Amino acid sequence: MHSWFFDENWRAGMPEYTVKLGYSWLIEEGVDVAWYPWVNNRVMLPKHQFFIWLVAQNRLLTQDRLLRMGIIQHNRCFLCGGAEEDLNHLFFSCPFSRQCLTMLKDWLQVGIPCHEVLDWWLQFRARSLLKKHILAAALAQMMYLIWRARNCCRMEYVVPHPVRIIKQVKGMLTMRMRVSPIIVNHRVEEWLRNVGLSCN
Ligand SMILES: [Zn+2]
Repeated sequence: MHSWFFDENWRAGMPEYTVKLGYSWLIEEGVDVAWYPWVNNRVMLPKHQFFIWLVAQNRLLTQDRLLRMGIIQHNRCFLCGGAEEDLNHLFFSCPFSRQCLTMLKDWLQVGIPCHEVLDWWLQFRARSLLKKHILAAALAQMMYLIWRARNCCRMEYVVPHPVRIIKQVKGMLTMRMRVSPIIVNHRVEEWLRNVGLSCN
């Protein structure tokens, strides 16, 4: 049994991220080539890249996995209490997560589907790689914060409002765009202005 399962903080259920680990998962685990755009994404925080990789590998200790391992006897979503928890429910089907995703879509003006989101992203043809990277960074942080909210709810029975989640995503993206300003084409510049992420 993984020791980090009993880690009594919001990271419960996922290994501690370190820069060394962040590099090693690329080299030692042989990441699928389809995931390279997540790796070469300077807008996304490395810890979010690592988190998404855990999701893609189904390595988060969601309740469906714990049930199969015999560690728990019941599976009920901490956030809504209305369904069993697995990766798809937690991040995309749960009413809480759907609300987050709807707000994210409205803000970024992109028609993201409510299922198979990561597959959608891999096939998404944006007018620029930067836009694709920004969408990936936003999705990754939203999912990271949903996981954190889920653990907070499990420990303290408190669910943050989705507005707060999206506000944090906006804050992170704004900060990342400032840290690494990038030259963009006219169309993307207009989109960045519309969503409030313009570097100028
Ligand atoms: Zn739920």
